[in-house]
Amino acid sequence: MRARIEAWAAATLCFVGLALVVQAYWQVIAAPSLTALPWDTHKRLRAKLARPGRVITRDGVEILAPVRAEGGWAYRYGAPEAFAHLTGYDEQTGLRGKFFDVLSGEAGCGDWRAWLMEPVPPGCDVVLTVDGRAQEAAAEALKGYRGCVLAVRVGDGAVLAAASAPTYNPLSMSTPEEVDVVATDPHEPLLFRPTQKLYAPGWAMAWVTAAATVETGGEVARRRWQCDGAWQCGRMTVRCPVAHGRVSLPDALLRHCRVAMTQMSDALGPQAFRNFLKALHLLDQASDMVLPSAAGRMPDLFDWRGRENLADAVLGERFVRLTPLAVERFFLTMARGGEVVQPYLVAQVKSPSGHVLQVFQAKSLGRAVRQETAAEILELMKAGGEIYKSAMVELGWSQDLGGTGAAAWWVPDPEKHGLGTAWVVGMAPAPQPQIVLTLVLEDVPDEKMAVELGMSLLNYLGRMAV
Ligand SMILES: [Zn+2]
Repeated sequence: MRARIEAWAAATLCFVGLALVVQAYWQVIAAPSLTALPWDTHKRLRAKLARPGRVITRDGVEILAPVRAEGGWAYRYGAPEAFAHLTGYDEQTGLRGKFFDVLSGEAGCGDWRAWLMEPVPPGCDVVLTVDGRAQEAAAEALKGYRGCVLAVRVGDGAVLAAASAPTYNPLSMSTPEEVDVVATDPHEPLLFRPTQKLYAPGWAMAWVTAAATVETGGEVARRRWQCDGAWQCGRMTVRCPVAHGRVSLPDALLRHCRVAMTQMSDALGPQAFRNFLKALHLLDQASDMVLPSAAGRMPDLFDWRGRENLADAVLGERFVRLTPLAVERFFLTMARGGEVVQPYLVAQVKSPSGHVLQVFQAKSLGRAVRQETAAEILELMKAGGEIYKSAMVELGWSQDLGGTGAAAWWVPDPEKHGLGTAWVVGMAPAPQPQIVLTLVLEDVPDEKMAVELGMSLLNYLGRMAV
């Protein structure tokens, strides 16, 4: 008995001793060489051996598709330049980066058929809400310009097109030197403008102010304003290029009367204005666009310069900054009868054998305005649309836009003489808009070109019945 206990004790001691030696080896002696290895060797190796998933548009365009390459798999880009900002150019950027685990199969999203069929289970597919034709049309419209296009379906908040210009070719981004050339380009081709670039929103803020005023439903909404061409607001002088005379809210909005709009916000007051921006989620980031996004900026409405800051905020030229997505989201809210949603870009994740594993949808952020207010703003958009339609007819454009709503404006850039940012927001078709489109062009002398591009894109999307 004693001999057996002694044998057990000796064996246990030997085991513990051995374990100590092994541990000491890995943790002390071999540690430096281990930490020098790339942190995720397994992940990278697997990513090379497993057939990666595809990224496809809602209409089936493969914008990223796996191809056999030396020692494993690589990606082929379909229409690389139109989709560059969405796909990214390596496994750290764009959707390739965001969905790396899903696309490489690392997330374990495959099913048993895939496990049986292939030695290393393949990655899953990512299906976008983006429509291939709409995206290519948007990218084509922006050629030769700097700016962006964002089109969202009203019914569910799905992004149909999100194009940014200038773009780049992900195929010529294979060495660090090549990436460096594109990354340091002063025209910022890597920037995904719809969600990342902060612009002076200009007259978009007047539309926001009009909605706030209508929503209060009080006397301010029915008041007539007097524009003599200039108005003293505290220490600041607000000027109109012409004296608009006596104007109502619709006149002020559609005829771009700066004096009346700032008088209106002054009558609303900073607290009501700020509460309204909060309800609209106007300054929020684009959380469901998957790609990086910026939050909006607003001057302090309650400091010693609060009154002037509010007037400045309403004109949207000096201190306010919004992404095109934030402006789009405001008009989308009006088209949706007052409900705010976060537009979304990825529709589904599918297994290699085509089974839907995950479905995404737009998040509702609650109601910002009453249905009646939203309807009134849509009526004003329609009246605006008539103005731009007649401008298009003058240009020899004969297509019928069928009661499209539109708003367009231009914001001067104080640093670039005579140049600025042109904005167009359009809705089609009337009376129940199904698409809201925002187009931004940078460094242009006025909004004419933007109107032409924006309205023809809207017309094209409207006909696609997306
Ligand atoms: Zn005026």
